[in-house]
Amino acid sequence: MQPFLRDHTGIYVDGRWVAPTAGRTEVVINPSTEEAIATVAVADEGDVDHAIAAARRAFDEGPWPRMSPEERCDLLQRLHDRIAERRDELIALVIAEIGAAQPLAGRLHVDTPLEILRFCIDAARKRERVLPLPPTVTRDRRGAKVLGTSVKVREPAGVVSAITPFNFPFFLNLAKIAPALAVGCTMVLKPSPLTPLQALVFGDLADEVGLPPGVLNVVTGDVEVGEQLTSDERVDLVTFTGSDLVGAAVMANAAPTLKGVLLELGGKSPMIVRADADLDLAARAGIGQITTQAGQGCALLTRHIVHRAVYDDYLDRASKIAGAIKVGDPADPEVTMGPLIRASQRDRVEGYVAEGREAGARVAAGGQRPTDLERGFFYEPTLLYDVESSMSIAQDEIFGPVGVVIPFDSDDEAIAIANDSRYGLAAGLWSADAGTAYEMALGIRAGRISINGGSGSFNPAAPFGGYKRSGIGREFGEEGLDAYTEIKAISFHAG
Ligand code: NAD
Repeated sequence: MQPFLRDHTGIYVDGRWVAPTAGRTEVVINPSTEEAIATVAVADEGDVDHAIAAARRAFDEGPWPRMSPEERCDLLQRLHDRIAERRDELIALVIAEIGAAQPLAGRLHVDTPLEILRFCIDAARKRERVLPLPPTVTRDRRGAKVLGTSVKVREPAGVVSAITPFNFPFFLNLAKIAPALAVGCTMVLKPSPLTPLQALVFGDLADEVGLPPGVLNVVTGDVEVGEQLTSDERVDLVTFTGSDLVGAAVMANAAPTLKGVLLELGGKSPMIVRADADLDLAARAGIGQITTQAGQGCALLTRHIVHRAVYDDYLDRASKIAGAIKVGDPADPEVTMGPLIRASQRDRVEGYVAEGREAGARVAAGGQRPTDLERGFFYEPTLLYDVESSMSIAQDEIFGPVGVVIPFDSDDEAIAIANDSRYGLAAGLWSADAGTAYEMALGIRAGRISINGGSGSFNPAAPFGGYKRSGIGREFGEEGLDAYTEIKAISFHAG
């Protein structure tokens, strides 16, 4: 057993660590100190080729897809136990690599994906592989009655390429590994080059758990590796989480080989605050949505659509809450918001705020780098008002701690503003009238909608995914397991 936070000279292929042939390496940086924390090997074309071949072999000839769900789930239960045992070490890794504030690092980055794994294990154990259809009575050519039926058989989709972004690496890697492996697929996982360590840990874990060789392979690298994983004909399904532009490239690269694509993409999600809402709770939630992982979250509610009667009050409360957020070293338990991932991401945020101001938006809170932090890619929680829905700050995914506040007068107008987006990943509604909020939720084109903060905690049974440019397909829940399966129909006479 080795600590996760260390240099990695190998990638994990066919059940062992191998050194990439070209010898290229990449430095991993801690975004709050700007210091190097590890060096990782970068896969080249030949290494990726071996990884795909290993996954293909493990699927076509290996035990994994042929095991009973119980046998597979027993091994995944060991994976669950190992992760739980190494929780503290993982939290330290998450904090160092992605800069997640400590409470978030434990709860959202490590515990929530463990709940997803738990759900997948329980669901896969219970799922029927063969689903009967009702019998049919037809007539043959001579007019005699024929009793027949069909069954639906669920089968693993095959070899899966999984490509993940930088922002919730451990979470998103496990959210792909858990359902794919639970139903019997094999996988090649490629993380973001900004956060490779939280994928390479799964090589360690696969070893510790005793997964058969080739079932889970982890390769590192960026665009070229991603392109190879999406275009290779030996891959049956690509599951991609990342930006909409790269998602479109993934789909185009997957098209010539007609493989399936599951795309979890970006968002610019709305949060409607009706005049009857509990404003304090809504304002707290609104700032929570801007500051979680420094705003680098796909489903964060960063467009605050607030009834004109409470607009000033909301702005006032939310600005005070934003001003009280402690920004800084994410390892400090008092800190609630850490840094952005890199200087380039902070430049992007600064660019959007400047553009918004030029377009007429005004700053209610934040709007600059914290003056007391000399190192690290920090930016203050920022709330912009006097915002028109057509402005770039209200339309583009900024991916930083920036929220915009837009007024509305009627429920219909609020829904129209919420839907005035090329994305449709998530939405939120705050109102004392839950019935009206529910009806409004039905009118919003987004894959996940919370009313008054949602069910209280993450529900791994609830599917997640996007409308419009936010994606294709669903993760989590039964739908998330179905996404990694093929359905075969077998028909036969009953007699
Ligand atoms: P990104 O799209 O830049 O990169 C994602 C991954 O794709 C990385 O591993 C990258 O190396 C790889 N990649 C880049 N070019 C590729 C290509 N041509 N072919 C194949 N792979 C390629 O995303 P990012 O900046 O790492 O992450 C931020 C984005 O991810 C945001 O848009 C965010 O909304 C989105 N995201 C979505 C979800 C979701 O579940 N819907 C969750 C988290 C993040």
